[in-house]
Amino acid sequence: MNNTEKKTPDISVVVPLYNEAESLPELEAWIRRVMEQNGFSYEVLFIDDGSTDDSWSIIEEMSRGDERIRGVSFRRNYGKSPALNTGFERARGKVVITMDADLQDSPDEIPELYRMITEDGYDLVSGYKQKRYDPLSKTIPTKLFNATARKVTGIRNLHDFNCGLKAYRQAVVKHIEVYGDMHRYIPYLAKLAGYKKIGEKVVVHRPRKYGKTKFGLNRFVNGYLDLMTLWFTGKFGGKPMHFFGLLGSLMFLIGFVATIVIGAVKLYNMAHGNHYILVTDSPYFYIALTTMILGCQLFLAGFIGELVVRNSTRRNEYEIEAEV
Ligand code: UDP
Ligand code: MG
Repeated sequence: MNNTEKKTPDISVVVPLYNEAESLPELEAWIRRVMEQNGFSYEVLFIDDGSTDDSWSIIEEMSRGDERIRGVSFRRNYGKSPALNTGFERARGKVVITMDADLQDSPDEIPELYRMITEDGYDLVSGYKQKRYDPLSKTIPTKLFNATARKVTGIRNLHDFNCGLKAYRQAVVKHIEVYGDMHRYIPYLAKLAGYKKIGEKVVVHRPRKYGKTKFGLNRFVNGYLDLMTLWFTGKFGGKPMHFFGLLGSLMFLIGFVATIVIGAVKLYNMAHGNHYILVTDSPYFYIALTTMILGCQLFLAGFIGELVVRNSTRRNEYEIEAEV
């Protein structure tokens, strides 16, 4: 392997892991076998997300005899998204493939994923675990979750947003930022960054062989909240006033008109000698008042949002595709 090859291997495999010591040697051997059989140059990046078992010493041991194996160790457990992001920053391969460490994803899928990126021209290919080996308590909410995600993100051809096995063109991983728990929505992040050719490949899924799952059922609640955040920031993140300002003005207007009407009705009745009640005795007056106050608050939220955006150092950062 010459020097340039070492710098840009064909494939970088990024593996986030948290306490997966038993699986690691098997996974590494399997990746190596697939890569060598297909003649790929590659690197594997193990991102140890603060494991408390022997994972890191195993990674160190594996990397000692093989420069294709790289590793990063977090001081504490940050989560899968930070681990992926760190891997993405360091990945040098033309194609970047992410894979869970628990042997649920099969390295045998690598050659076809690589082909789809390099030959079919996809920016991102997501795995689809059509036949899953997970408990029912997970597969059913997952179906619902994916249906919602398809609707909200507008990426209609994906069935499995959160599949750990994905392949990317290098540019994609360098231009997205995965933080918090946003790894569930990487295809959406890619789309928001302007990478629209997103494909899917049915992949083999296997039962977890060692260890146990790191995510509980709260993944679904958090997943929905994150989806809302992304949808909102994607749509209005750069112009919060367009959302809050519109809603606020509308509410204020409704409240204001209602107050005038309530007052006018009273004056009319007074002038004509009809029975009338005090404005403050009408429940509608309080509803109108609340609506006006809420409207002001929303408007103010938009205004403050605009001030925040104005001060963001990234407000004028754009990805330029070409220039002549
Ligand atoms: N993982 C991680 N940090 C965490 C939790 C999980 O790096 O805080 C890794 C984990 O070791 C595995 C992958 O993310 O390689 C997927 O996790 P898991 O298999 O527990 O999820 P599931 O398959 O149940 O969705
Ligand atoms: Mg798993």
